[in-house]
Formats: sequence, C-alpha cells, structure tokens
Amino acid sequence: MTKSFGCADAGVNCSWTTTAESEEDIMKKIKEHANNAHGFKEIPQDLADKVKSAIKEQ
Ligand SMILES: [Zn+2]
Repeated sequence: MTKSFGCADAGVNCSWTTTAESEEDIMKKIKEHANNAHGFKEIPQDLADKVKSAIKEQ
C-alpha cells in the first residue's frame, strides 16, 4: 500500500507531493521537506496531526 501526501492537502500553499510505503517513511520525508522548504525544525503537534490525517492511501 502506497501512502501519498502533498502540502496542499494540509492546507499549505505549496505544490510539493511525496509517496512512501509506510507512515514512518512518509513522515520522515515530510519532516525533511518541512525543514528544508518551510523552515520547521520540528513539526508542531497540531500540524503533524493535520499532516497525518491528510496522508492518503493508494
Ligand atoms: Zn511544502
């Protein structure tokens, strides 16, 4: 099962999208992107919850 996420799915004005095989992997990629592109050292808990609920299974 592939998981997919795009910043726009979490209400962020950004066209970045990613896919991964597990929630752990996709959260890792999202954290990296949030750090590099959006300047988050850590994703705040409320945003992390939003991100998790926006992750889609394909
Ligand atoms: Zn983004």
